[in-house]
Amino acid sequence: MKIVIDYDMCQGHGNCEGDAPEVFQLDDDGNVQILLENPPEELRRKVELAVKYCPTRAIKIVEG
Ligand code: SF4
Repeated sequence: MKIVIDYDMCQGHGNCEGDAPEVFQLDDDGNVQILLENPPEELRRKVELAVKYCPTRAIKIVEG
């Protein structure tokens, strides 16, 4: 799976970092960074939570 963030939608709430800190990290300016663009399957559940609870629906999982 591959993580894609729509940076126009992201408002830096940081929920994603709380759900999947292995994958998402906010920098000092409140911009989200993707630490693992292709996270391993064992992180799927966490990533799915981050997708679900992102307030602006800015995160997408692309398969393949
Ligand atoms: S939860 Fe969504 S809006 Fe908040 S930082 Fe993550 S991607 Fe951006």
